[in-house]
Amino acid sequence: MSKTIILNNRPVGMPTLDNFKFISEEIKSLNKGEIKVQAKYVSVDPYLRGRMSASKSYVAPFEVGKPITSGIVAEVITSENENFAVGDFISGILDWKEEQILTAETLKEIRKVDGSKIPLSAYLGVVGMTGLTAYLGLTQIGKPQKGETLLVSGAAGAVGSIVGQIGKILGLRVVGIAGSDEKVSLLKSEFGYDEGINYNSTEDMQSAIHKACPDGVDIYFDNVGGSISDAVLFSINKFARIIICGAISMYNETSLPTGISVQPFLVKNSALMQGFIVSNYQEKFPEAAKQLGTWLAENKLTYRETIVEGFDNIPQAFLDLFEGKNKGKMIVKV
Ligand code: NAP
Repeated sequence: MSKTIILNNRPVGMPTLDNFKFISEEIKSLNKGEIKVQAKYVSVDPYLRGRMSASKSYVAPFEVGKPITSGIVAEVITSENENFAVGDFISGILDWKEEQILTAETLKEIRKVDGSKIPLSAYLGVVGMTGLTAYLGLTQIGKPQKGETLLVSGAAGAVGSIVGQIGKILGLRVVGIAGSDEKVSLLKSEFGYDEGINYNSTEDMQSAIHKACPDGVDIYFDNVGGSISDAVLFSINKFARIIICGAISMYNETSLPTGISVQPFLVKNSALMQGFIVSNYQEKFPEAAKQLGTWLAENKLTYRETIVEGFDNIPQAFLDLFEGKNKGKMIVKV
């Protein structure tokens, strides 16, 4: 028997533990070509909130009564597939199950990972989707030029903490926005940010951004949306690039949010605002992963993880993303 977490019902507004249900499932024996894996590290991500709703998006909604899925690193514990040996580690989008069988068809989407050089959990973060998002969002849409100012919201989170460091490597002045003084200190001490703003203790975000970015903002890497991002518009420079990577401040809104109309700001500054979805850049993944790996090996890039222990705590770890309880990548160690 193996524990599985299914979508119990769809959240309205902020999700709760009641939206998830634990069930016990029997694991069948393996057919030829299949492997059985045991989850080791589970990624919880803000975008899963979108999949808990029924509305159309770039990935299909989760079905009520079916398992939730996310990025998982798992160990092969039984194998009927010659390409996978017991003790191998794999990574991919898997069900929230302690143990599961992967068919030959599913295995096409799975890659083997090697924990001997890079810790296994990092495949869910800095050398996984998080790092790819940071690198490709910044380079493909941000098109950074040495000496420019990069502003990042959600700066102390998984993606934001990597974006800032890549910005520094590429010769930018980098300013971050995060939700506590502790996170702002971390931005500067650990992730190389030049300046930080705590949006929770700052009454006038427009002035704070002006002060932290005296030469204006050339690139805005937006992870949060909402009023923080509205305030940024007052500081954008001519030909600014605004990367809309996420909008976590709005994921739990129950009505259409109102805010500033962006058009006058974009017109006045000939600025670009573009939505970014990492999966649209798959052909660039090998190049991006190689670059991230090189920077890690050269100690130019660091990363932080908030590790929550225990399979049963996966739903709570996910909910905690909306309370800002993580620094760097939120991961559950099973
Ligand atoms: P994360 O930043 O590690 O975690 C979420 C963080 O969001 C929290 O730690 C919290 O930090 C902040 N937050 C929560 N509620 C907020 C609010 N109401 N206002 C402002 N900030 C709030 O998560 P992540 O995985 O790196 O994802 C960051 C963003 O990128 C998300 O919007 C996500 O959906 C998006 N994303 C997009 C792609 C893509 O392909 N487009 C891929 C990965 C991630 P504070 O303490 O600072 O508030």
